[in-house]
Amino acid sequence: MDPVIQLSQLSKRYKNFSAVEDVSLEIEKGEIYGFIGLNGSGKTTTIKMLLGMVRPSHGSCSIQGRKIELSNHSMWANVGSLVETPYAYPELTVKENLEIFRQLRGVSDADAVHQVMEQLKLTGYADKKAGKLSLGNTQRLGIAKALLHKPEILILDEPSNGLDPTGIIEVRELFQHLAKDLGVTIFMSSHLLSEVAKIATTIGVIHQGKLLQEIKADGFKDLLRKRLVIDAREKDRAMTELNNAGYSAVFNKDGRIETTADYALQYPDEISRYLVSSGIPPTHLALEEEDLESYFLRVITQRKE
Ligand code: ATP
Repeated sequence: MDPVIQLSQLSKRYKNFSAVEDVSLEIEKGEIYGFIGLNGSGKTTTIKMLLGMVRPSHGSCSIQGRKIELSNHSMWANVGSLVETPYAYPELTVKENLEIFRQLRGVSDADAVHQVMEQLKLTGYADKKAGKLSLGNTQRLGIAKALLHKPEILILDEPSNGLDPTGIIEVRELFQHLAKDLGVTIFMSSHLLSEVAKIATTIGVIHQGKLLQEIKADGFKDLLRKRLVIDAREKDRAMTELNNAGYSAVFNKDGRIETTADYALQYPDEISRYLVSSGIPPTHLALEEEDLESYFLRVITQRKE
């Protein structure tokens, strides 16, 4: 099956500055692709090129096999998008804004506005002026506009910007439902790996305009570094015993013993047994996993030029 979204060697230069460099990726139907990068890494520029809002300096992108052309308006019927601060008519209410959008989009179902307000929990704000909404509800309105015409493809730049923790979870569950149950293909950017890792089927890490790494969700756990952290009343003796037994261990910044030896990670119970039999029962023994943001920073700093 052809990819729904395809970027081929996509690049954007501004004078001497390379905002996006040689980015190629493919997204299949029903996938949620999480596009992760720090501020200024090139996410918005990539998304704008994909939406035909910025002309690439080199390379191309296509949606459903059709090359993106700035002037080709018909191809956007299947696409919902959200880029930067979503625009709304500030003097009109939420409902009126969505109603205008429904007509612009040519959506014949008059109930679509009501449905999308329910989906985004905006019904309670239907009669509030868009200009008076909180940041989170402005974002919800932006997402509502992206979903109103029930597109098969969603392209969203930092969709959880401004949302509170409950909002982040609700929107995440909504995207998951759309992708899993309705086969919607989602390309979304974020600067938080921990956030997209919860729903993305593939994660792409962009740094200084380059796509550094692509990770499939099922392989992701294996990439996180693990370590066994041990504490004992007699730390130095415990360290000596572990070293004597062939486990390379170090004291970490908290003064606890830490090892990344494969056997220790696989059989922490054996380590515990060994220390007990050596007369140094551990007071703490825990298998810890690198957190996602540390992993993300490790990936981008390792590759920094
Ligand atoms: P953020 O998370 O802060 O939105 P981002 O990953 O979306 O960041 P971009 O907005 O794509 O990053 O910007 C990438 C780089 O390109 C930045 O250094 C930015 O300053 C630069 N840039 C973007 N647009 C232009 C422009 N029109 N002219 C010159 N430089 C630009």
